[in-house]
Amino acid sequence: MVSPIIELENTHIVQSYKRPPFVLERGEGMTLYDESGKAYLDWVAGIAVNALGYGDPGLTGAIQSAATGLIHTSNLYYTTPQAELAALLCEKSFADRVFFTNSGTEANEGAIKFARKVAADGSNPNKTEIVHFTHAFHGRTMGSLALTPKEKYQKAFQPLMPGAVLAEFNDIAAAEAAITDNTCAVFIEPVQGEGGIYPATPEFLAALRRLCDQHGALLVFDEVQCGMGRTGDLWAHTVSGVTPDIMTLAKPLAGGLPIGAILTTEAVASHIHPGDHGSTFAGNPFVTGVAKYVVERISQPEFLAHVRETGEYLKDRLSEINSPLIKAVRGRGLMVGLELSIDVTPVVESGYQHGLLMVGAGANVIRFVPPLIAEKQHVDTLIERLTTILAEQS
Ligand SMILES: *Cc1c(COP(=O)(O)O)cnc(C)c1O
Repeated sequence: MVSPIIELENTHIVQSYKRPPFVLERGEGMTLYDESGKAYLDWVAGIAVNALGYGDPGLTGAIQSAATGLIHTSNLYYTTPQAELAALLCEKSFADRVFFTNSGTEANEGAIKFARKVAADGSNPNKTEIVHFTHAFHGRTMGSLALTPKEKYQKAFQPLMPGAVLAEFNDIAAAEAAITDNTCAVFIEPVQGEGGIYPATPEFLAALRRLCDQHGALLVFDEVQCGMGRTGDLWAHTVSGVTPDIMTLAKPLAGGLPIGAILTTEAVASHIHPGDHGSTFAGNPFVTGVAKYVVERISQPEFLAHVRETGEYLKDRLSEINSPLIKAVRGRGLMVGLELSIDVTPVVESGYQHGLLMVGAGANVIRFVPPLIAEKQHVDTLIERLTTILAEQS
């Protein structure tokens, strides 16, 4: 019997998502339950969002306490949590200043505008180009969509924002050819997410830094997915030793509430003046109050060490699966991709039967981006079920 909720959804929601035939109702830790009470071990975490899993008492407490305070006042006025969250993010990163948004794509839109503004304050009227890379994903709105080079996402929405210049990911010679004096910014995910879990090499990031400095362009790290503890470091880029001019954040920043952020230097922020950019909801006291709690939790050294340890275990156990369908295991921390020789759709769908939530990244990669509280026992359950599923496919 089809749930009445599924019928209601199919009748009234714009059909831009293809959803599996169950309705999620509640969650606890690493597990989600549907209307019938069936349990699903969650390796998706709302797409790398629910870092603390479900029903975390600390997060619930932070939400309750934020809910008793101001919810929204607009950015016309000072409020305490926004200022405190910005200070905390600056303390934990390279940044001097923060601009809050409501989502990842909005953070990237803002970063595009900041880069264009910095360039507009200079003397080269043609300095409007933004270099981005193959397999990149920066979002779905018109600016960030222009930096998301996937035909299926872009084709019907032409004309896109002009000035986007595409170069091959991890190819230094390609970056050298693409980045010129007309480049105002270079956008890159230090570990690509949607595109298939491809880490940028430290040499590539260092080359981008050098080229950006040489040509007066801003280096923008999109850490919407790979940042905030996902790789086992607070920021994915720190291991490379390369520092960006702008870093964008979103997904896990408020533990599941909508928020995004643009972190940047004083040198960039000094070009942004009242009226240059804005948002009605962004940075409201409710969401920033909750985010403060989440950032404090995730940045604890023991929390990050746990992510590294569980992530290594996950990669080891995935590599041990004996299946002719497996081509590669890659990633860092709890951001791991399993590349298969087949389309992953039937594997993801079979997961639902076996009580597993998984999500693809590109056609051939299953992406594991669970709550960061995942433990080895959850990895063991995943491996057991996935081994069965893969055996059924071949
Ligand atoms: C998800 C994602 C975005 C877009 O974030 P939304 O909140 O969905 O707008 C941008 N960049 C990266 C790397 C992402 O993974």
